Amino acid sequence: MSTNTEQSAVTVLGLGPMGRSLAGAFLDAGMRTTVWNRTPGKDREPAARGAVSARSAEEAVSASGLIVVCVVNYDASDAILRREAVTAALKGRTVVNLTADTPERARDTSKWAAEHGIRYLDGAIMTPTTTIGTPAGVFLHSGPKDLYLEHRPVLEALGGTHTHLGEDIGRAAAYDIALLDIFWTAMAGYAHALAVARAEGISARELAPFAKGIGAILPPLFEETAEEMDQGTFSGEGNPLTSAVSSMAHIVHTSEAHGIDAGVMRAAEGQARRAIGRGHGADGFIRIAEFLGRR
Ligand code: NDP
Repeated sequence: MSTNTEQSAVTVLGLGPMGRSLAGAFLDAGMRTTVWNRTPGKDREPAARGAVSARSAEEAVSASGLIVVCVVNYDASDAILRREAVTAALKGRTVVNLTADTPERARDTSKWAAEHGIRYLDGAIMTPTTTIGTPAGVFLHSGPKDLYLEHRPVLEALGGTHTHLGEDIGRAAAYDIALLDIFWTAMAGYAHALAVARAEGISARELAPFAKGIGAILPPLFEETAEEMDQGTFSGEGNPLTSAVSSMAHIVHTSEAHGIDAGVMRAAEGQARRAIGRGHGADGFIRIAEFLGRR
């Protein structure tokens, strides 16, 4: 599987918005790109740009030494890869699974791949489709380092930064979960803020410049609290938990006065009050990370 032609040939399985962007970046980089998607028709755009459209997943797999998978989740990727004919065609080739799912699913797939003579890397894409093929893309990878290094030149055609996080195949998915945890709770907070603001007669447009200011507070806090978390010392200087819960209670009160569900904020307030109850009222907010899961 390692002639020069095969090394610069790549197959993309899955042509949702992200799969199409990946295929587009490979094509832009001049690679022989074969594509396949469960539902026909989504290959039209990549085919118009020069991709080879395979009639079946096994045909797509047989076309390249490197197979990039990007579908909705691992149930979908299993449905494609674990069909007998496809598994047989994958033998000796490398799969880079850029589908998002849990670390356990990545580990399970890696075990399955080893049992079938398939070389396997797992990965996660941390940026939207518009960043693919540009310097703004962020790709995380995990699995055997030598295999990653072998395929890195092709993967780098996707643009952006590529980071190999370690040999533990579940590590990219673990980063993905942690990072999306930040993203989705922040988005839930933002959606909630918009609802409360609207109930108070403030439009999203009016709030936006100040919302951006709140967003800008977070990156330096990530740096500072990373030290605290890793060292287990949580300085509440400037904003202790006792003060934070008071602010949270105001949000709960105002939301519920407008009939707006405050479940997410109630949960966060409850976690902070638990930490206070254990004698950590003078500590900073991130102390609550130590109490999550210990009811
Ligand atoms: P989706 O997450 O909606 O995935 C769509 C793809 O999954 C299509 O190719 C679809 O095929 C396929 N699929 C779904 N179910 C099955 C199945 N049972 N068998 C075979 N194929 C199936 O769209 P995206 O392309 O946007 O995302 C792909 C991955 O990339 C996801 O894991 C996502 O989390 C990740 N990602 C996406 C980003 C984005 O901005 N879009 C950003 C970062 C990561 P069909 O057309 O036949 O339904």
